[in-house]
Amino acid sequence: MTAQLIDGTAVAKRVRSEVAEGVAAFREEHGRVPGLATVLVGEDPASEVYVRNKRRLAAEAGMQDLHRLVPADASEDDVAAVLRELAADDAVSGILLQLPLPKGLPSARLIDLIPPAKDVDGLTTASAGLLSRGAPGLRPCTPSGVMVLLEETGIELSGATAVVVGRSELVGYPQGKLLLDRNATVTIAHSRTRDLVEVASRADVLVAAAGRPGLIGPEHVHEGAVVIDVGIHRTPDGLVGDVRFDEVREKAGWLTPVPGGVGPMTIAMLLQNTLTAAKLQAERS
Ligand code: NAP
Repeated sequence: MTAQLIDGTAVAKRVRSEVAEGVAAFREEHGRVPGLATVLVGEDPASEVYVRNKRRLAAEAGMQDLHRLVPADASEDDVAAVLRELAADDAVSGILLQLPLPKGLPSARLIDLIPPAKDVDGLTTASAGLLSRGAPGLRPCTPSGVMVLLEETGIELSGATAVVVGRSELVGYPQGKLLLDRNATVTIAHSRTRDLVEVASRADVLVAAAGRPGLIGPEHVHEGAVVIDVGIHRTPDGLVGDVRFDEVREKAGWLTPVPGGVGPMTIAMLLQNTLTAAKLQAERS
């Protein structure tokens, strides 16, 4: 069997154009557009690239760019003051604090200053609580993007066996909950999982988010399974994922490439969250 590829670049483009339509409709109705405030602390080159892309695509979707650059030597109080100001500003629909922060700044404490209604990265304790309860709220972008890609395959998630490899707050843990919310039977594997081959090869849906290049091979994959590769690793040969693409392609039913799979979905879902946040805030005011 040769897997069908899930084209994340094309799906992300479609989501972004749907968001752009939503932004235009929002402007018609409210006479203003949603605003995204990216907050970059310091000059980490990789973070600068990520933030630039987020700002560019938000502007392309018609949103207002409310970016804030904070000096690398800013104190916790300095960053907190920026976040509080953005939290109180009605023009700001969504706030994204770019991680990692410079050493010494407490990420979790600062993230929790973002009000849940503006938490477009879905990473505050309050948003995690809403996710945990299955209550309406903004969900983390990467796992939400994976759910959209799964829809593309047409797989029936209800009753399916899903295995997520990785239990981070950013990806693996919320991924497991989103799959559970769709009535999949979910296992979350991690670095202490005793027999990953045995666990993973039971999956109808296998999401690899371990951050280990090439961890997942054909031995981990049930014939015909849907395999989603969240991993991104820069190597001398270019970007690779957690999945050994060429080998797994011969066994999976569906597979995401790296690059061009999950990666482009993350920003698309950030924009979708920003539009959702703007609509909810408008409804409440
Ligand atoms: P992370 O915080 O390092 O978490 C990795 C998780 O994988 C941990 O739960 C860890 O288990 C588990 N793990 C590590 N080695 C393992 C092994 N050999 N077997 C089974 N589980 C193992 O990473 P993350 O932030 O979740 O990111 C994961 C990957 O996704 C990275 O490659 C990252 O670059 C990528 N990523 C991509 C996007 C995107 O937009 N495409 C977004 C975010 C992240 P323990 O908990 O036991 O340590």
